[in-house]
Amino acid sequence: MKILAIETSCDDTCIAILDVKGEINSPSFNVLANEVASQIKVHQKYGGVYPMMAKREHQRNLVPVFTRALKQAKLLNSKFEIRNSKQIPNSKFEILNEILEREPELYKKIIPFLRKYKKPDVDLIAVTDGPGLEPCLWVGVNFAKALSFAWGIPVVPVNHIESHILVNLLENKVKFPSMALVVSGGHTQIILVKKIGSYKILGETRDDAAGECFDKCAKILGLGYPGGPAIAKLASQWKSEIRNPKSEIKLPRPMIGTKDYDFSFSGLKTAVLYADRKVTNKNLNYKKEMAAEVQQAIADVLIKKTLKAVKDLNAKTLILGGGVSANNELQKQFKLEAKNKKLKLDIIYPERNLSTDNALMTAITGFYHKKNLVNWKNIKVDGNLSI
Ligand code: ADP
Ligand code: MG
Repeated sequence: MKILAIETSCDDTCIAILDVKGEINSPSFNVLANEVASQIKVHQKYGGVYPMMAKREHQRNLVPVFTRALKQAKLLNSKFEIRNSKQIPNSKFEILNEILEREPELYKKIIPFLRKYKKPDVDLIAVTDGPGLEPCLWVGVNFAKALSFAWGIPVVPVNHIESHILVNLLENKVKFPSMALVVSGGHTQIILVKKIGSYKILGETRDDAAGECFDKCAKILGLGYPGGPAIAKLASQWKSEIRNPKSEIKLPRPMIGTKDYDFSFSGLKTAVLYADRKVTNKNLNYKKEMAAEVQQAIADVLIKKTLKAVKDLNAKTLILGGGVSANNELQKQFKLEAKNKKLKLDIIYPERNLSTDNALMTAITGFYHKKNLVNWKNIKVDGNLSI
């Protein structure tokens, strides 16, 4: 079956097309397209994502990104240009107008598209319905509704957090129970995975997400947005250039010793702010040293708490997901610590471009939930949707 996936939960406009052969217990995935239009340039100057601006960008980007994905998948077919324009009657366009009432810029782009191109050979639409920024989620969901209505393709709504976990199934097998750590710009959660579709949140951040902490600390250091990769780069320079890195800077490891599986990262950012105020000469070496300490403080807490959960619940696979899981040092230290603790544990994480937001993860999750179809009229978004 071919799955078209749409993901607009934050600031990336993502479309993927996935071909799946076989059934739920032994699928074979063939990625036909995985397109992302990043809005980094738009949000960079503000040092963060502005939902209404992101919503406007999604409206502008969706049809071009979709067209690119269809072309890539060799599913774009305009041969029947004239016949097709007759196939979609005007009454249908009136309903499309209603569906996209709040997305006027998207409506303007989708109409000529639907007049020009034939329905592609796609069996299912998967769309993220939460969690995320609601104005952004709505653009993707309304796009899915419009396509479902125009072409008569069924829709399955998909949870974004579950997608960050299940994207790992593209290349890996997991053993249950598994433990998942989802660490992104918006979330930091330790989740027990009993099996696919059966989850229990064991702990989460009580304030900022780990990625948010990377971003805020990077902003204090004047490193730009997104902060994670910038901090990781300076930290690795500090490690490789300074032969004996005796860090003068010591940041706290919030909640590292507590019995629960929760996190707190807002105090870390405040500690960076105060430490930074005391420094008069903010040269590159200072920034490298601070970056290394920020990264280490975040990694220490994530690793300690997650491996405690792994041990307590006897998990056999550790699944990492979300933008922060792209951090090389975090990956390396997770493996090292698991070995030190003599845990029999497979640790898996997505390749870099699948750790941050993408629609391929939405497509894979849609496949596992292909039975949970929802009439397009009834799909809603939920910014705080829980896994
Ligand atoms: P969200 O779904 O919340 O938008 P993503 O899953 O797209 O988040 O991840 C984005 C977050 O990941 C940002 O906060 C970014 O700073 C962080 N990030 C990306 N790459 C790295 C890295 N190499 N090290 C640490 N953090 C990273
Ligand atoms: Mg995400």
